[in-house]
Amino acid sequence: PAVAARIGKGKGKPVAAWEDLFGGPARLLAVEAAGLDLLCLDAPHLYDRPGSIYLGADGRDWPDYAERFAALSWVGAEIAGGLLPDWTPALVHAHDWQAGLLATYLAQAGRAVPTVLTIHNIAFQGIVEPWKLGGLRLDPAGYTAQGFEFWGRINMLKAGLTAASAVTTVSPTYAEELLTPAFGMGLEGVLSARRGDLYGILNGIDLAAWAPATDPAVKPYKTPPGKAKNKAALIAEFGLDPAAPGPLAIVVSRLTAQKGLDLLLSALPELLDGGGQLALLGSGDGGLEDAFDRLNAHPRIGVRIGYDEALSHRMFAGGDAVLVPSRFEPCGLTQLYGLRYGAVPVVARTGGLADTVIHANTAALRAGVATGLQFHPVTADALAASLTRLTALYQEPKVWAKMQRTGMAQAVGWDRAAAQYAALYRGLAD
Ligand code: ADP
Repeated sequence: PAVAARIGKGKGKPVAAWEDLFGGPARLLAVEAAGLDLLCLDAPHLYDRPGSIYLGADGRDWPDYAERFAALSWVGAEIAGGLLPDWTPALVHAHDWQAGLLATYLAQAGRAVPTVLTIHNIAFQGIVEPWKLGGLRLDPAGYTAQGFEFWGRINMLKAGLTAASAVTTVSPTYAEELLTPAFGMGLEGVLSARRGDLYGILNGIDLAAWAPATDPAVKPYKTPPGKAKNKAALIAEFGLDPAAPGPLAIVVSRLTAQKGLDLLLSALPELLDGGGQLALLGSGDGGLEDAFDRLNAHPRIGVRIGYDEALSHRMFAGGDAVLVPSRFEPCGLTQLYGLRYGAVPVVARTGGLADTVIHANTAALRAGVATGLQFHPVTADALAASLTRLTALYQEPKVWAKMQRTGMAQAVGWDRAAAQYAALYRGLAD
């Protein structure tokens, strides 16, 4: 939506057009935005409506969600196949089920263009009924166990996983976990068959947007002591207790089963008993929203239901610790913001959380490499034990400050990932 707003409706140079792109006319526009040359698909019958990219204004899936993303994939495949006279891509990188059909369309057209498909979260697969085969312009020959058929339905993510030249996901540990029934969400067999082409490349964060020294949303700081004024402001903003002896823990999260925040509801007494406090910002499942909202009355718990990016920056700057008790987490961003802002991450040992936080065991503390706490198994009891440990560590100011400084110095930008993607692209395109 940000790009659409910048380029303005109808702006851009038409470079291709379709009379019937999944139910209506569409154009491909060449535009310049954010310093990039972009191709935008203008298909009003699919995209010009209230709501978000993914969901209608009522918060539910669009009835034609398959066609909306099939159109995007179709046009991507056309471009890759040579639609434009002056530019043919060497490789296509597609993301999630929304672009899953792209590699399948290329294969159907007999085009040997290398493709990469990245899984950001395998919980979302884009599954639709088989009567949509024709409408989605899929060759029925692909409707098999080796193709995009999945328990009698069409699975658009599986289409990409079976057809792409390589598959990546957003952390090494999640790549391993995806091969197991506990995490593969039914696609573990498909992924195991493609094990040799599966790569885990850790995401980074935008170091310009998440920089405590220059962040306009916070009182800027370069070292842990600079957090004190941000903490005082956050305590005031959430109406918390300025005299509490323990750490101020924060949560910034979607409130869904994935994020394990129901475990936090059970484990909260350990944080409070240790003198700690909680500030939570999130939205999602009604039941979880209500449960946390009720806790707002507690003098050492502050809850904001909603989505507020500026507030999230203030929370990372003011928080002593950030809690991420996810049941599964492909990469996770908030623990990375926490590292960068000196908010010590307390994370479930899963997916990208396991790859990015160095657990403060005795050896890691002695070596000065610890950056946070990991707990396992992902249960309320293990989280509670971790919170007890957190409040104890907080009482050792030297140890605590060292963890913060080590965390703030971690490399969490995109450089390493960019180099890994570039190497993968080169290997596929040569
Ligand atoms: P997921 O993509 O599964 O929600 P990630 O940790 O990968 O989890 O990314 C979540 C992103 O959304 C982070 O940038 C986080 O700061 C942001 N976020 C989540 N909930 C909120 C909220 N209520 N207000 C502001 N930002 C939020």
